[in-house]
Amino acid sequence: MQITHDFHIHTSLSLCGDPSATVENYRATAQKLGLKKIGFSDHFWDERISTAHLSQMGKDFYVPQNYPYICQLRPQLAAQNWGNTKVYFGAEVDYDLRRRDLCITEETAEQLDFLLVPNSHTHLIMPRDCYQPYQKHLDFMVQIFEDTLNSPVSKYVTAMAHPFEAVCCPYDNNILMHMLPEDTLKRLCAKAAEKGVAYEINVSAIRGKTEAQIADWAQMRLFRIAKEAGCKFIFGSDSHSAWAHDTWAHDTDVVSKLLGLTENDFHPITR
Ligand SMILES: [Zn+2]
Ligand SMILES: [Zn+2]
Repeated sequence: MQITHDFHIHTSLSLCGDPSATVENYRATAQKLGLKKIGFSDHFWDERISTAHLSQMGKDFYVPQNYPYICQLRPQLAAQNWGNTKVYFGAEVDYDLRRRDLCITEETAEQLDFLLVPNSHTHLIMPRDCYQPYQKHLDFMVQIFEDTLNSPVSKYVTAMAHPFEAVCCPYDNNILMHMLPEDTLKRLCAKAAEKGVAYEINVSAIRGKTEAQIADWAQMRLFRIAKEAGCKFIFGSDSHSAWAHDTWAHDTDVVSKLLGLTENDFHPITR
């Protein structure tokens, strides 16, 4: 099926965003691809929540990306003529290990159209000694998934972003996805389904891959388990540049086909 939503877009406001990741370029992309819904989700840490305990890398990344900072996007979005594309202003919100909760207050969450929560930005928020053994790293991501669903803020969470796909992992992150027990994911996804939190299909990892390579992607097993557990999905490009959508139509089509996705498998925000 043709996927006409993308709820994971970074602009050049994100410190890791390319200068080409402009609102204007995204409007052109949305029109070219026939996207009916586009969701902007720059990286974010609420300035009301302390960053004092973060690593220097975590502080350097998150302290500047506060609420007034990401809100610079609002007038830029309003200035474009989006035609038939509906625009959503959200954020990719991380996990605060100190409070075992999300790095956003309910007051701020109220102001946003949607929230993405990664349990896999372990390069930014996980103590270094959790990389080994692999089980420790996996347990850390399970904890984030669970704590997110148990948080009072969970009612604002739209989806878990690139679940279990550890970012900037010093070893092959597929190992961790292969290690995740089926019953653990089933339990997490059943709870996510109950809370209305979707599982993101983040296609950034399969850009330029063939159908056979996509079928081999470790995340495919996780998607199937999530689907069986009743979890809903959203698609995200995790775009950080003007060219990230070059293979979007192919990649989203292949994944939808391999999983046999239908309208009913998607989070209501996508419909
Ligand atoms: Zn992310
Ligand atoms: Zn992202």
